[in-house]
Amino acid sequence: MVRFTVLASGSKGNSTVISAGRTRILVDAGLSCRELFRRMRLAGEDPATLDAIVITHEHQDHINGLAVTARKLGIPVYFTEATHRAWMRWLTPRRQMSYAQWLELCRKQAAERQAEPEAATPAAEAAECDLEESETESQPEAAAVQDSVPDPAGDSVPDPALGPVSAREPADLPGIAPPTLKEDPTWLPAVEYFEAGRPFTIGDVSVSPFTIPHDAADPVGFVFTAEGVRLGFATDLGYVTPNVKQQLRSLDLLLLESNHDLEMLRDGPYPWSVKQRVLSRVGHLSNDATSDFLSTGYDGQAAYVILAHLSENNNLPELARVAAERALVGRASLLANRLLLAEQHQPLEPIIF
Ligand SMILES: [Zn+2]
Ligand SMILES: [Zn+2]
Repeated sequence: MVRFTVLASGSKGNSTVISAGRTRILVDAGLSCRELFRRMRLAGEDPATLDAIVITHEHQDHINGLAVTARKLGIPVYFTEATHRAWMRWLTPRRQMSYAQWLELCRKQAAERQAEPEAATPAAEAAECDLEESETESQPEAAAVQDSVPDPAGDSVPDPALGPVSAREPADLPGIAPPTLKEDPTWLPAVEYFEAGRPFTIGDVSVSPFTIPHDAADPVGFVFTAEGVRLGFATDLGYVTPNVKQQLRSLDLLLLESNHDLEMLRDGPYPWSVKQRVLSRVGHLSNDATSDFLSTGYDGQAAYVILAHLSENNNLPELARVAAERALVGRASLLANRLLLAEQHQPLEPIIF
């Protein structure tokens, strides 16, 4: 049985669970750890059974709960190398400081190290998810200068310069506690790199990543295959490239962005520069672009078409639905192309094959 559950979709957070055989994969971790777990339970999925997290790109609505969730579950995160690096840079923004400021920082850190207890108590670890989540909100500021000074816990940090890091669970390191989020916000239990155009497998699921045009370091969409079922996944793309068209063929389920209504975006509240970015070739798909693809570039084979990443400010579910329905008219049989809209604030009913 293959199960596809959209937990959240939109600019406030994106996450989907793909479940096949004994494998459970979380695609993007755009909600807080607590909210992710809550929605998984609502949708009948047990968070403790997740095997891996796969990331499309480093924008905040796709990685917001990543570090806390991966740490909490002790599971590997699959990135492209460029996305992993971009994510680490986001967590450790660089700022210039004067020599005097640097000296002061060193003095402060030395004093903190002396004052800190050796290791976290079991009770403190049990509350990790809650603790780390509250830390997460202030991470970029709190970590603002960390990479400019020697890191006392640096030896346990996975070094991206060393290439792919094999799966390493905390249990493999007896007696060595992983660094807290504060000590190292970029630490993950295990990191696995993939490349667009090179399929790989996670347990019972084959994952085929492909490049999408979007203003991120190395953004990808995916086709997941399990038990002969093909699930296509493409959000956050400025336009549908020939290669994306090629990838999104012969699917049983297609999850595709339908981000904005062009008129609502043009007349809407965003500053002009943001409008330009959304509209650009590395922005987001409009309802029109999506319906263009559905009417001319799509083979019409999926049993389910899910419209996703709808803007709350610049779109209305009805506008997205009508545009897609119009495009699908004539090709929809009784069973094929059932149209659904992914939601921001609640999970979709799981789709089962
Ligand atoms: Zn997004
Ligand atoms: Zn994005």
